[in-house]
Amino acid sequence: MDASNSRVAVVLFGAPGSGKGTQAQALVERFGLLHISTGDMLRRHVEADDEVGHEVKALMEAGQLVPDELVNRLVAAELDRPEAVRGVILDGYPRTLAQAEMLHHILAERGIPEVIIHLRVDYNEVIARLAARRQCPRCGAVYNLVSNPPKRSGICDRDGAALLTRPDDREDVIRNRMEAYELQTRPLLDYLTRTSERFYEVDTRNRSAEAISKEIAGLVGAR
Ligand code: ADP
Repeated sequence: MDASNSRVAVVLFGAPGSGKGTQAQALVERFGLLHISTGDMLRRHVEADDEVGHEVKALMEAGQLVPDELVNRLVAAELDRPEAVRGVILDGYPRTLAQAEMLHHILAERGIPEVIIHLRVDYNEVIARLAARRQCPRCGAVYNLVSNPPKRSGICDRDGAALLTRPDDREDVIRNRMEAYELQTRPLLDYLTRTSERFYEVDTRNRSAEAISKEIAGLVGAR
């Protein structure tokens, strides 16, 4: 494994609650890649109460996708940051066909190869996981009250901020997010398997986060 001599874009693809954020954190530590989570970026805009935040707040709270042009623009800007010198992990992007086409275009322009990892889930596990999820509003670290609790209850291990339940982790909103996934995002799998040279399926069912990250690290490192 040598992550220093070529850039790579690792795309973590999967349903809401499939563990994309948790796996992204592990990959950041292992390979020094820049974590690009469109959900986290959008939540920061909502928190900052800026123009982008105003545009997306209601859509996010309803569990619906925000406009493609907006996320495409955010992702392209991240790719050009100096922290992306070794490459990036895309978490929650692409989510529509238009986004996937744009991603191929912006990666090709920069000569960055992609590795797609599809995290396969069990729906019942996912619903339980989302309900137990807590997140740090400051650094984005993700915890789970059952499988990965913080050392001190309700407090982020990294920066001491008070952990929050995401407003879209309510049961009725989870259902909308699953529906958006089924209708707009899952159909992408077909496109990605056809267009990507390196597409891998990783089964997350009944497996620990550590076992899954080991498998993903092996796939990403094998190049
Ligand atoms: P999850 O994958 O667990 O649903 P995310 O944090 O990735 O959560 O996304 C939260 C919300 O942010 C989505 O429901 C959607 O409203 C918005 N969002 C995130 N990424 C995208 C994207 N690539 N395209 C459109 N909307 C997005």
